[in-house]
Amino acid sequence: MSNITREMFDQYYFPIFTPPQFVMVRGKGSRLWDQEDREYIDFSGGIAVNSLGHCNEQLVETLREQAGKLWHVSNLMTNEPVISVAKQLVEETFADKVFFCNSGAEANEAALKLARRYALEKYGAEKDEIISFVQSFHGRTLFTVTVGGQHHYSDGFGPNPTAITHIPFNDIEALKKTISEKTCAVMLEPIQGEGGIIPADPEFLKQVRELCDQNHALLIFDEVQTGNARTGKLYAYMHYGVAPDILSTAKGLAGGFPIGAIMATKEVAAVFTPGVHGTTFGGNPLACSVADKVLQIIKTPEFIEGVNERSAWFFERLNAINDQYGCFSEIRGKGLLIGAVLKPEYAGESGKMLKAAIDHNLLLLVAGKNVVRFAPALNISREEFELGMDKFELAVKDFIAAHAK
Ligand SMILES: *Cc1c(COP(=O)(O)O)cnc(C)c1O
Repeated sequence: MSNITREMFDQYYFPIFTPPQFVMVRGKGSRLWDQEDREYIDFSGGIAVNSLGHCNEQLVETLREQAGKLWHVSNLMTNEPVISVAKQLVEETFADKVFFCNSGAEANEAALKLARRYALEKYGAEKDEIISFVQSFHGRTLFTVTVGGQHHYSDGFGPNPTAITHIPFNDIEALKKTISEKTCAVMLEPIQGEGGIIPADPEFLKQVRELCDQNHALLIFDEVQTGNARTGKLYAYMHYGVAPDILSTAKGLAGGFPIGAIMATKEVAAVFTPGVHGTTFGGNPLACSVADKVLQIIKTPEFIEGVNERSAWFFERLNAINDQYGCFSEIRGKGLLIGAVLKPEYAGESGKMLKAAIDHNLLLLVAGKNVVRFAPALNISREEFELGMDKFELAVKDFIAAHAK
């Protein structure tokens, strides 16, 4: 496809993304190559999606095998991979039942619809209020973007869904004031991702659970980003010992093959009776066979231990770089979801650090304007890590030099 150029993206694609001036063609592990065969180290993991790196051999083999057997049969029938992956998720989590869709937003849309339907059937139409948190991110459908706590994403599309309230994260007093018997659900990310890698305080989460129980409100954890071993547990709620009623996930679940899922207790799932909700592609054999394989790999104690080991590499080296250059006020996060918070004098410049990294062929992420985010493959090798961190150090040096000018 050598007749394809980066300029053609601007010519043909909606002007909604602004990718850098190269086109990626190939990946292996935590390396990527562009059309010029330039090599990049990937600390972005496709935004916390490529959980086992690029073109992981076991996943390629699984997908190839499934592609030769069965792609799609519709939900008028079922298939083996979807049953197998649902069984694994139930066995590994708080949940009794699973539903599959194709993305994080779709998973959250289903979670919110489920909560509203449950409240309606069990308590009546008055119980419809949803509480979520400032700076949260739950996807781009009109319902999920409205529940998300970032107005610049939700404004400008006409009337939004109603009965949604946003309160400050980690602020239990705000929740006490807001929650009532009219609350249908409280939705949160155990570690806010897009909002800046902000972990929930353990005491806060415990009290959220208690307040939900007292007010007969469902607790929804959005683990689209934090799920699937990303934070050094299979799901982030496991760090806290606080289980939700509904959990959504997506991103890393099939290592880069599109999939989303919600999990719930039996009682809650029971209101999704035939016809109440649906999907064409959700639960298809291709996505589910890959997710089944990913789960088999990432659920083992050895794999989880590996994530925590790699997390320690990242924290250690990032702190060392910061000791030398002093540009971050804090390195925070869990497992391999890490945020480096820029000091006030560099406020608003996370995008510049991202660009400085690209100049050294290193791919990073931001989480808002003040936080540089790391979400590498969960199996990144020591060599790839060292190469990437050497590049990061050079990028930090350049960033500071450019700022001083
Ligand atoms: C990425 C993300 C979403 C949206 O997922 P999509 O697959 O882009 O729809 C929702 N919630 C959280 C926490 C996310 O990080």
